[in-house]
Amino acid sequence: MPSGFPSDFKELVRSRTDLVALIGESVALSARSGGREFAALCPFHDDHDPSMRVYPDRQSYRCWVCDEGGDCFSWVQKIDRVGFVEALEMLARRANIEIPKRMGRASNSDSHDRNSLHEIVAWADREFHQCFLNAPFAAPAREYIASRGFTDETIRKYHIGYHPDNWQWLLDRAQGLYAPEQLATVRLVGEKRDGNGYIDYFVNRVLFPIRDERGRPVAFGGRVIPGARNENDAKYWNSLEGPIFSKSSLLYGFDAARDAIRKANTAVVVEGYTDCITLHQHGVENVVATLGTSLTEQHVLNLKRFARKVVLNYDGDSAGQRAAERALAKFLAEEIDLRVLTIPNGLDPADYIETHGPQALNELIENAPEALEYKLQAAVTRNGVESIDARERVLDEVLELIGQTPKRATGTREDAILGRLSVRLGVDERKLRARLHELRQTLANRTSVNNPNTYRVDSEEVAANSGFFDSKLTKDDLAECELLEIIFTAADSISAIGQEIGSADFRNPFLRRLFQLCLDIYEQGEPPTFERVTSIVEEPDLKSITVWIDQQAREKQIARILQDDDATCEDAEAPGPAYLKQAIAALRWRREELSHELRKGEFGQTAAATAGLNEDKIAMLRQATAHHQQRVTKKTLN
Ligand SMILES: [Zn+2]
Repeated sequence: MPSGFPSDFKELVRSRTDLVALIGESVALSARSGGREFAALCPFHDDHDPSMRVYPDRQSYRCWVCDEGGDCFSWVQKIDRVGFVEALEMLARRANIEIPKRMGRASNSDSHDRNSLHEIVAWADREFHQCFLNAPFAAPAREYIASRGFTDETIRKYHIGYHPDNWQWLLDRAQGLYAPEQLATVRLVGEKRDGNGYIDYFVNRVLFPIRDERGRPVAFGGRVIPGARNENDAKYWNSLEGPIFSKSSLLYGFDAARDAIRKANTAVVVEGYTDCITLHQHGVENVVATLGTSLTEQHVLNLKRFARKVVLNYDGDSAGQRAAERALAKFLAEEIDLRVLTIPNGLDPADYIETHGPQALNELIENAPEALEYKLQAAVTRNGVESIDARERVLDEVLELIGQTPKRATGTREDAILGRLSVRLGVDERKLRARLHELRQTLANRTSVNNPNTYRVDSEEVAANSGFFDSKLTKDDLAECELLEIIFTAADSISAIGQEIGSADFRNPFLRRLFQLCLDIYEQGEPPTFERVTSIVEEPDLKSITVWIDQQAREKQIARILQDDDATCEDAEAPGPAYLKQAIAALRWRREELSHELRKGEFGQTAAATAGLNEDKIAMLRQATAHHQQRVTKKTLN
């Protein structure tokens, strides 16, 4: 055995591990096919539909998009980024199986081994907690915690601890167990400034253990006790990051909140761990807290695996509100139904729940405004809407937020907010769209030049110009797809289409290339059937688009629509299926609309510009747009 363990040990661990329960600790699973399999959002790629399946009978999992798959060992290796031996040991411990001495391998000499690091933190956690519960000198800590209204049950559940006012306390207790260097690795002690030995990191603070998603303590948050000697030091103090603790991915209380989050399909994010604990204690359990940092993409991704809706609560002061607004872009980019909860009278959620009760808080959570709506309200409150200048500023603020987010992520919410913006500010909705489009392109260019390595840039670039499926298809795209659907269904329609439409009429670069390919095939005297096109296309991207379009055509039963049209066609002047003619007309109309816009000059900037347009022209344009949109929507919904 390469791992040095007997193989029956490995099998024992495997047989005692329920893969569904294990995976359920990290992602939300939903039963499919009567429980014969489970589906989840894949944590290994940017998943938007649950692409991962877990098979209880085979104790295996697989993602059908990124092909990641395996058993319980590969799951832990991948998700915890550890080697096989560590995964095996971790799962053995989890199943309460005694780990045999390894054969043919030196004893565990690696002090950075994650399992032993976890052991050290767990040991310290027990020391702190016992000290809090029992030590006479911990009385002020107990009084402080009692004053926060924490019950004994809560104190035990959240394992609240205390580190006494003594810079050597933990080091002394570790003697004979752990070396100071080991304690330093998990940031429980730090090297003295003169380099001459170590001192404890948390001194005279109440400690809140921070646990990872498996419930293992990995770090601590320490709070000063009011009236204590160090009262004027930083109020909160978190462990420094280290090999097993990353602030940017962990959320406080997640292990305790997970089931409630999954059940409610909603996660509430608050700013402090005492708020989080208080809410849990009052029965509002789907709550987590950030660890003194702002929200990161990784936080968002972790929440997204369990909840479709995330409710952010930040302090009611203007700094808190600004922080909330800054967090919005991150969530919007992840296709989460994001709400912003503002608690009346600037109260924090713990105060609110204590005076008004859980029911009232739940109602606030339930009715928290949608993020874009919140942004609009905040911008209106800040700037007003009286003058054109003020309206411009509101417009800029809101569009800038939406513009930072790929279109696919905001989807129908974007449509709704643009509609409301248009009404509220008296600006034509199409102008808003044009301006938003420009903004997205500018942002994409700017960020990709300045900042080539950030996560943000990736999604920006995706939004601007990459994969076909990366952004929500526009009505224009759908109209273009429709023509290709017709061609794949009835290849001879290419002759009629080719007379009216050129590839330059296609705006989507992928669809344009596919259409040009159809024309090329036709010019060589062959029908551009789906089979012919797929046999020529080599790029996987283009091929998958071709397959998708063909799939759409079959789902929409285009063959039948065309047949029915043929049978009922009474238009002797221009024979042919009405559906085909409509599809051609849609693209031709668009071409005319474009030339009209170009003649009109650049898109106006404010409501005032709309007034410059001839009323009849506007009415005509509106009517035509409505007709066009209705037609496309009807077809895509069918
Ligand atoms: Zn995947």
